[in-house]
Amino acid sequence: MKKICIFCGKITKKKTKEHIIPEWLIELTNQKNKILRFGPYYKFDKGNKLILDFNDFTFDSFVYPACNMCNSKFSKLEGNAKDVILRILSERPLSNKNFNLLLTWFDKIRIGLYIANLYDSNNFLGIQPKYYINQGVQTKDRMLLIYKINKRKNYLLFGGTGLPAFMHYPLSFFLIINNFGFLNICDDFLLAKSFGLPYPRKRFLLYDQNVEVVVPGTLNIKYPVIEIKYHEECTQIYQPILNTIFQEQIQKLCPENHYKQVFICRDSNYGKIFYKKPNSPIKVYRKDENKDWFTNKNNSLTEGNIMEYLTLISFKVQHHYLTKYGFEIAPDRSAIINEKFKIATKLNKAIIDHLESLDILKNLIL
Ligand SMILES: [Zn+2]
Repeated sequence: MKKICIFCGKITKKKTKEHIIPEWLIELTNQKNKILRFGPYYKFDKGNKLILDFNDFTFDSFVYPACNMCNSKFSKLEGNAKDVILRILSERPLSNKNFNLLLTWFDKIRIGLYIANLYDSNNFLGIQPKYYINQGVQTKDRMLLIYKINKRKNYLLFGGTGLPAFMHYPLSFFLIINNFGFLNICDDFLLAKSFGLPYPRKRFLLYDQNVEVVVPGTLNIKYPVIEIKYHEECTQIYQPILNTIFQEQIQKLCPENHYKQVFICRDSNYGKIFYKKPNSPIKVYRKDENKDWFTNKNNSLTEGNIMEYLTLISFKVQHHYLTKYGFEIAPDRSAIINEKFKIATKLNKAIIDHLESLDILKNLIL
């Protein structure tokens, strides 16, 4: 794969470099000179046998090509995201706009990691990136789980990106910044059914547009919002976003009053920011800066198990959706893709089983 701009996917002459994990975050958590291991990645050796591999980096060297224009387009988002992260770390008030921005920033990082992953694993699955950062941010339903753990300083880690499932389709990943753990999940129609909106009975992951039948929703907002169970002692943030390809179709099937309850207005494909705290219902997040987001509930996630737990949930989400949805494949490629898919799901399952067998996660597995 040619190394091309991670934002737009084009080859440009004047290249700058983009930190997938932003420099301000590396400095904030004092990671500048630390060596970190990312992975595992999966690849075929010379005998065509599948092997595990790891990459060692300093966060600072975790950079990828980007064109000047794309890079500067996103620098404002970085500045604003830094402000929001600082507010979260010091437990200060946040507005609905702050969360909207935070979700977009998580989109950027998640897709950046997806492209980086395809580069670094030498793309052994032969995957064509479905989108680059420019086309992928703010286009799909998204959610964020925010877990507060005990006090910890100077800590930065991301993960949930090491399975073939993530390389096929970057649905979820996690980021731990000091004493806050974030799990980000994003997909077309991720929230549609639970938000009472029209949703597809069947869909194919390989081509985003390929949705078969969209059926009317219940017009009620229901919890839980996704099919994978997770530890609920956290702040959950949701934002439905309709891929514009589907907007007209959904509007036809959804009565105006329900559409307006979920989305900013009838003309918009952007949903309101919703949130949920332990033992309370899903609500719309207010416009003004407030501390409604904050939950100080003691949960059973600790410094000692949060990484494994968030890895497990990210993997479960990816595995679930990858195996639930079908792949529509051109007949001449189906044999080889089916074979790769079989290997991928077998690997996913083996790693999930391993994580579920860990003692430190026993009381957390639902
Ligand atoms: Zn570019």
